[in-house]
Amino acid sequence: MDRQQEFVLRTLEERDIRFVRLWFTDVLGYLKSVAVAPAELEGAFAEGIGFDGSAIEGFARVYESDMVARPDPSTFQVLPWESGGEHYSARMFCDIAMPDGSPSWADPRHVLRRALSKAGEAGFTCYVHPEIEFYLLRGLPADGTAPVPADSGGYFDQASHDVAPHFRRNAIETLESMGISVEFSHHEGGPGQQEIDLRYADALTMADNIMTFRYVVKEVALTQGVRASFMPKPFTDHPGSAMHTHFSLFEGDRNAFHDPDDPYELSETGKAFVAGVLRHAREMSAVTNQWVNSYKRLITGGEAPTAVSWGHANRSALVRVPMYSPGKSSTRRVEIRTLDSACNPYLAFAVILGAGLQGVQKGYELPASTEDDVWSLTDTERRALGYEALPQNLTEALAAMEHSELVAEILGEHVFDFFLRNKRAEWDAYRKNVTPYELATYLPVL
Ligand code: GLU
Ligand code: MG
Ligand code: MG
Repeated sequence: MDRQQEFVLRTLEERDIRFVRLWFTDVLGYLKSVAVAPAELEGAFAEGIGFDGSAIEGFARVYESDMVARPDPSTFQVLPWESGGEHYSARMFCDIAMPDGSPSWADPRHVLRRALSKAGEAGFTCYVHPEIEFYLLRGLPADGTAPVPADSGGYFDQASHDVAPHFRRNAIETLESMGISVEFSHHEGGPGQQEIDLRYADALTMADNIMTFRYVVKEVALTQGVRASFMPKPFTDHPGSAMHTHFSLFEGDRNAFHDPDDPYELSETGKAFVAGVLRHAREMSAVTNQWVNSYKRLITGGEAPTAVSWGHANRSALVRVPMYSPGKSSTRRVEIRTLDSACNPYLAFAVILGAGLQGVQKGYELPASTEDDVWSLTDTERRALGYEALPQNLTEALAAMEHSELVAEILGEHVFDFFLRNKRAEWDAYRKNVTPYELATYLPVL
């Protein structure tokens, strides 16, 4: 037993913890949990906990359904809000293994680990910093009616008489008590819309943190009598919820994206990374924006990118190279703006890192930046200026992904095939629906 495992067992005893929740994430990005008694944990560290993988989205074909969850002791945290009387619960993220002990190819955490070790072989550590947007709502109606926002605030509003500031304070305190540092938080543009930005961490830790974040935010919302949703675009007339993510690659202590002599302090490595993300943006779209609803955010603009472009101050660009803290090399990073708050963070970080790394390793040339407002241009103007549009909907995104050798390699054959099959089924289920829009538009006049 190693030191971290011993620490976990000692803490369980000292804090009299009665349940340990073992967490993992399915291919679609849903959090899964199995609770074990502390007495089982020593065995779980040694052998893992067996479960039926065929019951988990994307995990296994039925004939190879036995799987093993192996808790990662470095992710151990006591859950601060869950005290059943005197007793707290704790959680650990798991790696998923096959019965022979080899890592499961279906485990999103393993997909990201593979991408990170590829970056590691090239000498890079990947740090990320997400800005997570979401809505606070009065309820989550499941009958297709529009939700009601929990407040009427706007961008940066203090909205002191509403639920939002209390909610953000409680959510941040809870996150911090779990070792997840928050950098900024504010009210976002839509009524009820919030943003909380996490302090940078390595990409695997951050993907775990994002899964925890979504859970914490939903729990804290409940304690305030409201509900939280990470749906990419819950309102036709209000902005969607993005998860802009800032990426940087470090070589040891040196930020490989920083070059003090470049006008924008962006190194050749940084430029090639951005070039890689742009060149593969369409193929990765189904992963960074994985739901039918994701494209309602992207096609309407509202500060969401619609075309493959990059810029400095330009908030219509897919990649932004922010100009904060000039001269401070550690903060040089690039902001990827496609991701939405309902992506699977493990898979989304893996494809972006893989595409960026491809740019670096193949020496891709960065196209000219654009400071045009891409949203104000017509499709024809965009084409004339050489902007490639992002996929307009999920089926277009899947068609782009299907031919991508890069995405197939990063996700691995199993996840790649499952993902395409599952998402095609989602599109088919969606497209045959007659929508309220069609009824309102056509029924009275046709
Ligand atoms: N909510 C916007 C989007 O969907 C982003 C707003 C911002 O720039 O922070 O992309
Ligand atoms: Mg924002
Ligand atoms: Mg941003």
